[in-house]
Amino acid sequence: ADLTVQDVLRMAKENNVKFIRLQFTDMFGILKNVAITEKQLEKALNNELMFDGSSIEGYVRIEESDMYLRPDPNTFVIYPWTQGEGAEARLICDIYNPDGTPFEGDPRYILKRATQKALDMGYTLNVGPECEFFLFHTDSEGVPTIKTHDKAGYFDMAPVDLGENARRDMVINLEKMGFEVEASHHELAPGQHEIGFKYSEAISAADNIMTFRYVVRVIAQRHGLHASFMPKPVFGIAGSGMHTNMSLSTVDGTNAFYDENGKDGLSQAAYYFMGGIFKHIKGMAAITNPTVNSYKRLVPGYEAPVYIAWSGKNRSPLIRVPAKRGASTRVELRNPDPSCNPYFTMAAALQAGLEGIEKKINPPEPTNVNIYEMTPEERTEAGIDNLPGNLFEAILELEKDDFIKKAMGDHVHPLYLEAKKLEWHNFASRVHQWEVDEYLTKF
Ligand code: GLN
Ligand code: MG
Ligand code: MG
Ligand code: MG
Repeated sequence: ADLTVQDVLRMAKENNVKFIRLQFTDMFGILKNVAITEKQLEKALNNELMFDGSSIEGYVRIEESDMYLRPDPNTFVIYPWTQGEGAEARLICDIYNPDGTPFEGDPRYILKRATQKALDMGYTLNVGPECEFFLFHTDSEGVPTIKTHDKAGYFDMAPVDLGENARRDMVINLEKMGFEVEASHHELAPGQHEIGFKYSEAISAADNIMTFRYVVRVIAQRHGLHASFMPKPVFGIAGSGMHTNMSLSTVDGTNAFYDENGKDGLSQAAYYFMGGIFKHIKGMAAITNPTVNSYKRLVPGYEAPVYIAWSGKNRSPLIRVPAKRGASTRVELRNPDPSCNPYFTMAAALQAGLEGIEKKINPPEPTNVNIYEMTPEERTEAGIDNLPGNLFEAILELEKDDFIKKAMGDHVHPLYLEAKKLEWHNFASRVHQWEVDEYLTKF
């Protein structure tokens, strides 16, 4: 059901909406917004609103910084926790140049370019994300800490837990906003949670991830907690992933990854799609795992991937093919983390997968043993490579991968690489506590 401009205006009026946040995402996956009052809504929906893009990361255009916001009426949603007097709503926007062309640096546009490519080949990408996050206490001044309240673990029930109450409230609010929440549970680490929601077509899935992060943080704050999507906030316990379940469907809605006569019930397209992803997985790492901290998660021992392998059986590899077949046939990419820009991650994975289909790239043989129990020699023999070990390695891999750079577009990849190099330099040139503890008295 597509919403028209008239529908949005009517819904805003009926629900007493006073503020509308016009939202978009910067290169680093940070949600940005321009707030307007309901008086300007019609003008905004007629694509007449401009903003200065020069201070948004990745949007910089020195020659002309004025850009147009084109709200997508289908993304109109009222924030349930503001309902009543002066309710607040949002619209997700596409960014356009003054000459009426889409802005090349808009992450949503970069994903749209990939989904258009898929459509030209007869496919739609469906994505079901699993977002993990931590709930931390804030101190007496309201500053976030890394202290968690509970001692619970995977799937535990903790009835008097602040975190449980907050999570329930998150689910309720998400459902009011049209999310179909599939499963929410306590994750492995203390204070760690996961809320999974129903798969959808890629653009709406990426929009949903951005919305999800916002809702989780707002509701946590209302419970006096700080929600963090930092990939590895605490050493020695599990980090947070954003497992990305993907499948292609054909125009008539059939799952293109399922073939009852195919090997293990998977179609040739599913194998080639994985083949394309494997080909570019290192080049994509600076996108799927974009921060210094991302690589602290990708270490053995915490159910996060380290090696480039896939399996239908065990959970340790980079790609897992869940046992479900038929309409639920999918591949689960397990390295993305929730600090990534979801539009970029999906655009890169989709473009890589489509290249695999076009060029008939086969994935490696599945690895059905526990790779973490293999020796380095055994892994080399089996042809199992490692993901980049830190952000710097990932940057070098992206620099080498012209295909992934092209998927990001000529506007974004130079800016992105430059920003990531600076981020790495800022980290690597500082003296960290570990070094002081290790070396100060030793030398
Ligand atoms: N937290 C793990 C990760 O970093 C995943 C744990 C799980 O969902 N089984 O990917
Ligand atoms: Mg899960
Ligand atoms: Mg999980
Ligand atoms: Mg999973």
